[in-house]
Amino acid sequence: MRVAIVGGGVAGILTANYLAMRLREEIRDKKAEILLISERDKLLYEPGLLYLIFNKLEEKDITKELKYLLDPSVKLIVDRAEKLDLENRKIKTKSNEFDYDYLVIATGSRIVPEEIPGLVQYGDWFYNLDGAKRLREKLSRFKEGKVVVSVMGIPHKCPVAPIEVTFLLHEFFKIHNVRDNIELVYTYPINRVFTLGNVSELVEKMFEERNIETRTFFNPVEVKEGKIITLEGEEESFDLLIAIPPHKGSQLIIDSGLSDDGWVPTDKFTLEVKGYDNVFALGDTTDLPVSKAGSVAHFQAEVLAENLSAEIKGLPPTARYFGKAVCFIETSFSEATYIWFDYETPPTFVKPNRFTHWMKIAYNRMFWLTARGVL
Ligand SMILES: Cc1cc2nc3c(=O)[nH]c(=O)nc-3n(C[C@H](O)[C@H](O)[C@H](O)COP(=O)(O)OP(=O)(O)OC[C@H]3O[C@@H](n4cnc5c(N)ncnc54)[C@H](O)[C@@H]3O)c2cc1C
Repeated sequence: MRVAIVGGGVAGILTANYLAMRLREEIRDKKAEILLISERDKLLYEPGLLYLIFNKLEEKDITKELKYLLDPSVKLIVDRAEKLDLENRKIKTKSNEFDYDYLVIATGSRIVPEEIPGLVQYGDWFYNLDGAKRLREKLSRFKEGKVVVSVMGIPHKCPVAPIEVTFLLHEFFKIHNVRDNIELVYTYPINRVFTLGNVSELVEKMFEERNIETRTFFNPVEVKEGKIITLEGEEESFDLLIAIPPHKGSQLIIDSGLSDDGWVPTDKFTLEVKGYDNVFALGDTTDLPVSKAGSVAHFQAEVLAENLSAEIKGLPPTARYFGKAVCFIETSFSEATYIWFDYETPPTFVKPNRFTHWMKIAYNRMFWLTARGVL
């Protein structure tokens, strides 16, 4: 039985490693094989980008080669998948073709800043490594003017990262004694500053206390030099624009005819791709009503590995994913809170505190153990 996993992000790596642990004997006896197809040979720990822009972590702290993260029994193919043929159980890559018995789609999401005219030319972001490095340089020199943090579409990776970066910008400018010279503005597409009501209330209050201005129902359609133009007909000036660019799923999903936007139609409990009992999706690429977050990918990988290994062993696949998500929210360089929720339970959070911040910092360091499936 061959399990082919496409995508070498958190979701793909964790699924591969959990499966390898559960199928140790079957792999040894050549009854099972795990293939991971990834277009990149490294994993970027994306939450680390938030710290890289403030020079708290470096590139070497947040990237690792896949070969050091994967269980030795997993076959790594570094190649770009170009077409998934679900009817004939085949994956066409740039230089090869692979059959499979079970397919796991873990192709994640990507930013598409080019979809907003002018954003690439006049905007900045920290949602990929190059963008974060550029922003680090600009922030180190920024002493006065107007900074706008603008969320330019939902869904996007890590729903709370725009809030965190705004809190940290406030603190960063304060530490450097320039906060009084800087106007800090946060914009969000809907009628409040976050999708979840009670989190929104907490954040609005904290923004107000820190003199951070907000604009809601703010949907940018174009960026010009020093100016954002919105669908609602508003204009907002800026000296530094930190955008959360629009997101899409992988081009592979679109090219394979699975959806128009790259989000894979997925069963919310079993993670089966709708219409196929041997194809599964997890992580950012699903169309599920859950956060596009590494923690979600982690909890889904546990469920998927349990069910897939059971099927391969001829046991009933009984595990279900109930929408569990956990997100830390850094509120300064010394305090954080976290939210915890699932399909049925609204988020709960604690008062921002030092202990939670140190848990997040510790997690940043321990992440590589999580990726290996140890933690
Ligand atoms: C700034 C920032 C901060 C964040 N902070 C947090 C946080 O604090 N907590 C949290 O839980 N989450 C956080 N996230 C979100 C988290 O990083 C993502 O949700 C997580 O990485 C999703 O994992 P994934 O494996 O589903 O997708 P991805 O990480 O996008 O991985 C998908 C992989 O598939 C590959 N791929 C795509 N198409 C193909 C193809 N055709 N062929 C081969 N390979 C392909 C891609 O190259 C990529 O390597 C943050 C994200 C960002 C950007």
